[in-house]
Amino acid sequence: MINRRHLLAAGTLVALALRLPVPALAADEPIRVVASFSILGDMVQQVGGDRVRVTTLVGPDGDAHVWQPAPADARTVADADLVVMNGLGFEGWMDRLVQASGYDGPVAVATTGIVPRQMAEAEEGEEDHDHDHHHGGTDPHAWQSLTNARIYVHNVLEALIAADSDDRPVFEANAAAYLKKIDALDARIRAEIASVPADRRKVVTSHDAFGYFAAAYGVGFLAPVGVSTEAEASAGDVAKLIDQIRAEKIPAVFMENISDPRLLDRIASETDAKIGGTLYSDALSPAGGPAATYLDMMDYNVRTLVAALRT
Ligand code: ZN
Repeated sequence: MINRRHLLAAGTLVALALRLPVPALAADEPIRVVASFSILGDMVQQVGGDRVRVTTLVGPDGDAHVWQPAPADARTVADADLVVMNGLGFEGWMDRLVQASGYDGPVAVATTGIVPRQMAEAEEGEEDHDHDHHHGGTDPHAWQSLTNARIYVHNVLEALIAADSDDRPVFEANAAAYLKKIDALDARIRAEIASVPADRRKVVTSHDAFGYFAAAYGVGFLAPVGVSTEAEASAGDVAKLIDQIRAEKIPAVFMENISDPRLLDRIASETDAKIGGTLYSDALSPAGGPAATYLDMMDYNVRTLVAALRT
């Protein structure tokens, strides 16, 4: 008896012999998802599991603020079933890239529903100034709080279900398991931070990437440049920061995996602050590194912070 499976196998053999394209079994193919940067790529992978094939545009240790797409990236986007981006102004290049690629599928914004943090550069007493006078703008680094990560996961889940409703139960089960891990890590981070004396919970990083972390976990962050790495710190900004580190006895400065460490080296050498290590701000580490997934990244950052601040 010849069933459908045999016919398919025979057809494949004929196709191989004739060097014809083997017909794809569309229903079994994972959906192709393009994520704008490595942290989001990992979240999509966690929720999508083996039902997605994830390609990340800005890879490990990459800086999405200053990234520039290559022609190959437009081809990657053109082949996607779903594009997922952070939003909040993080990927200034995305609209043009999508347009240039000819892709007309769904573009999901993972921060939808998150209350964005506004970077007000106003000093005390200036809060009433018109918003247009502030230089910072919207802070895109919303993933730096695990409360926000829950919203990312929900948005990714919705986008995957919309793109592939057959695999809804798989996506929902993956998301539920992932949210449990997120909650557990959130609780552990709060306990770890609580072990640091309150007056030592302040640090300096390269750029202003930890505002959501600061708000969620009660650690003060200062940086010589704003929410984008595109700007360069002025000599005046650096001098002011050095004064502030001395005045407030800030214990440690931290490098970032996406930024040049030289400026922070100099700042540390001119103050009593020590170099506390490297924090992963806007990108994961390569596979095999200490922050190869989003949850490993948050865990690593907190352990690095706490180790430097507790002593
Ligand atoms: Zn950044």
